[in-house]
Amino acid sequence: MPANLIDKKHISELAAKAAGLDMKGGNPRLKTIMNRLLSDLFQAIDDLDISMDEFWAGVGYLGASAQANELGLLVPGIAVEHFLDLRLDEAERRAGLAGGTVRTIEGPLYVAGAPVAKHEARLDDGSDDGEVLIMDGQVRDLQGKPVPHAKVEVWHANTHGNYSFFGPPQTPFNLRRTIETDAEGRYKFRSIMPSGYGCPPGSHIENLLTDMGRHAQRPAHVHFFVSAPGFRHLTTQINIDGDKYLRDDFAFGTREELIPPVIRVSDAAAIHEAGLDKPYAYIKFDFAIAKEVPGAPATVVHREHAPAH
Ligand code: FE
Repeated sequence: MPANLIDKKHISELAAKAAGLDMKGGNPRLKTIMNRLLSDLFQAIDDLDISMDEFWAGVGYLGASAQANELGLLVPGIAVEHFLDLRLDEAERRAGLAGGTVRTIEGPLYVAGAPVAKHEARLDDGSDDGEVLIMDGQVRDLQGKPVPHAKVEVWHANTHGNYSFFGPPQTPFNLRRTIETDAEGRYKFRSIMPSGYGCPPGSHIENLLTDMGRHAQRPAHVHFFVSAPGFRHLTTQINIDGDKYLRDDFAFGTREELIPPVIRVSDAAAIHEAGLDKPYAYIKFDFAIAKEVPGAPATVVHREHAPAH
C-alpha cells in the first residue's frame, strides 16, 4: 500500500475522539497524553505504511515482553530510561541545581529492604570466590560539607552477572546493603568484583536488539541510591573501568564521570591491613548530593520494584 493515505485533519480528529477530548469526564492529563501518543502513532502508521501484520507483531511483542516481565529491560534497552535522565538533568540545570554526582539509570533489579549497616558493611556472603572489592568514599553536599547519616543503598551482580532475587538462587540480599554514613559522611564496604551481564539469551529484548543489529550486554557496574533528609535523592551507578563494554552499554547507562579508577592492591602489608589474604581491588568514590529546593523536579521515582522473596 502507498503511504499517507489518510488526511492529517482526520488523523487528529480520530486521535482526539479516541482520547475522550470531546468528553467532560476523565483525567485531563491522561487525555492530553493519550491524544498526543495516538496522533503520533496514527501518523507513523500512515507515513511508514505499517502493515496490519507489522502492527500486530508489535502488539504481540509488547504483550509477550510484559508477560515475561521484560518491560524493565525494554525501557533502558531502547534508551527511554536514559532519555528521561537527560530531561531531568536539564530540568535541574535550569533550576540552578547542577554540580553534584551525575545520575544514571536505576535499571529493573533494585529490591527494597536490604539489611542496614552503620558506616561499613560486607556485601557478599562469602560463597563467590571472585576478586575482593573494597570501596569507600564520602557523601558531601555541593559545598563540600560531609553529610552524616546519609543512606548509601548499594546493589550489584556477582561474578556470573546475576543479582540476588533474580536468576539462579543466592542468599537473600546477597550483594545488597544500605550503609549509613558516619559523622564525616563516610561509607565503606567489602564485596566481590561484579561481572557485566547480558539480557537473558533468547529473551524478547535480546531478540529485538539483535533484529536492530545491536547487542544486549552491560559493562560491570555497581548501583547506588544516595539519600539524606533535606537532600535530593540520587540514583546512580559506577562502572568498572576496563570492561569490554565500558562505553558500549546496551542500556545507555555509562557516563564518563562515573568511571572511577580501579586500584589493584598486591602489597603484602596493605593486604594484611585490610584483613585479607589475597590481592584485592580498591575503588574510592565520593558522592555529592544537592539540598532539596522547593519546586525542583522530583528525583524519587515511583516505579514497580521486584519484591524480596
Ligand atoms: Fe545492574
